[in-house]
Amino acid sequence: TMSDVTAAATPESGASAPKAPGAIAREVQRRRTFGIISHPDAGKTTLTEKLLLFSGAIQMAGTVKARKSGRHATSDWMEIEKQRGISVASSVMQFEFRDHVINLLDTPGHQDFSEDTYRVLTAVDSALMVIDAAKGVEAQTIKLLDVCRMRNTPIVTFMNKLDRETRDPLELLDELESVLKIQCAPVTWPIGMGKNFRGVYHLLRDEIMLFRAGEEKADGSFEIIKGIDNPRLAEMFPLEIEQLKTEVELVHGASHPFDLEQFLAGVQTPVFFGSAINNFGVREILSALVDWAPAPRSRNATVRDVAPDEQPFSGFVFKIQANMDPAHRDRIAFLRVCSGRFERGMKVKHLRLGREIKVSSVVTFMASSREQVEEAYAGDIIGLPNHGNMQIGDSFSEGEMLQFTGIPYFAPDFFRSVRIRNPLKIKQLHKGLQQLGEEGAVQVFKPVQGSDLILGAVGVLQFEVVASRLLNEYGVDAVFEGTSISSARWVSGDDKRVLADFEAALGHNVAYDAAGNLAYLATSNVNLRLTEERWPKLKFHATREHS
Ligand code: GDP
Repeated sequence: TMSDVTAAATPESGASAPKAPGAIAREVQRRRTFGIISHPDAGKTTLTEKLLLFSGAIQMAGTVKARKSGRHATSDWMEIEKQRGISVASSVMQFEFRDHVINLLDTPGHQDFSEDTYRVLTAVDSALMVIDAAKGVEAQTIKLLDVCRMRNTPIVTFMNKLDRETRDPLELLDELESVLKIQCAPVTWPIGMGKNFRGVYHLLRDEIMLFRAGEEKADGSFEIIKGIDNPRLAEMFPLEIEQLKTEVELVHGASHPFDLEQFLAGVQTPVFFGSAINNFGVREILSALVDWAPAPRSRNATVRDVAPDEQPFSGFVFKIQANMDPAHRDRIAFLRVCSGRFERGMKVKHLRLGREIKVSSVVTFMASSREQVEEAYAGDIIGLPNHGNMQIGDSFSEGEMLQFTGIPYFAPDFFRSVRIRNPLKIKQLHKGLQQLGEEGAVQVFKPVQGSDLILGAVGVLQFEVVASRLLNEYGVDAVFEGTSISSARWVSGDDKRVLADFEAALGHNVAYDAAGNLAYLATSNVNLRLTEERWPKLKFHATREHS
């Protein structure tokens, strides 16, 4: 059997017997791995806390907030370290709900919006989109949804803050459909809003869940009244119930009925209304994730697709985080398990380096603390401490040569050129930037002409982090200056001569990134468009895959 082969290949691995394939499949089926996407202030932190309440980790309730307020502190080195130290522990949260294992991955937002934010989404199987119902679709939501679309990630939508005056719910759905280009299937519908918010009507169950402000129940259960025609409702709030009936008719006529297939294809999103701060509608979200969102699915690798319930272990690194102690240069690589069963103490192969490592120290992320992991299955995230030899995109297996694909680098939106005060430190600068580039902290471009290095990032805080880490870890006092560059595209083409001509003609704006890929650094959108038009044989890409 498969298990014999595995055991023979790694004789010293794990003490306990490998699980039967059926047992692995059962563990996979009960896993849900998702991330929350939202614009700052829509309520992601609040909702995360409420979701954790369901796991029984009620002591968490203040923790997420404490971490967030740290974000607004000054960004000197110790502060950044402190924040990152805390966020290592809480950037992955695992909890149980209705006999399911839920992995919630934090997608950093706010000022520390970085490539991590994007790449975390390559490690999830579904996403929860939180919208402030007073504001509707906002800029960061659009960006994050675009990334979800690359893998057709199924999206559940939560319209938050119905206890406030919000925009018209029908108009909100319209905006979602037209701006985000995603079909909306309302599952609950709000009754009133703000001071007159009475609750939500469950369109599939024909039930009304009554809202009471300030009633923050840990189990999120609110009084339920069966049937929209129930006379009790007309007694309780005659005006709102009349309006509800009219709206429900409109909704049935104008919107899409919920369709599981369409949801799983990423074409349609079920929409829930509620109020995170009141824990209202949160349990419905969690149920939707458990009932509808997909368990871990097969993943593409270079040689074949890897199914989650295969016996041998495999996974890939989607994020690297420097540890708290800069003196030790310890890093934690976040690995998403893609197949098999991981067990502490087992030997796995680091495929890029062709090296076998024994994983005796691994961290997992329970809602309440950072703990040693004993076993993990597809969908789970484990943290591998290392000294800088692991990179984003690295694959691990029990020996089979496979490289998981689809872990992208995103064209940066912000650029700086780097200068150093002490020219004797040029070597350290290059070494530092090389390593920080590999870690995914920043993108480094070396123009074909000229000696300045150009740094690129998707969030400006990345530059501050890089500057302080260069100083603290490499002893390099670097100065970052603005540049005329406004966007970057990776360039490919079949004809080597055309590529060489391109390089020669536009030397100042053509550069190589840390992995040796050719890129064009444009000075404006117009400039980019003109260049694309002038070089029709070349392709310009806004993302590139890890290589
Ligand atoms: P994040 O930036 O997306 O993490 O948002 P937070 O969870 O920090 O919420 C932003 C602000 O909105 C905070 O002041 C919250 O207290 C508030 N908030 C969150 N959910 C609700 C809600 O359901 N109703 C109201 N009225 N305010 C809310």
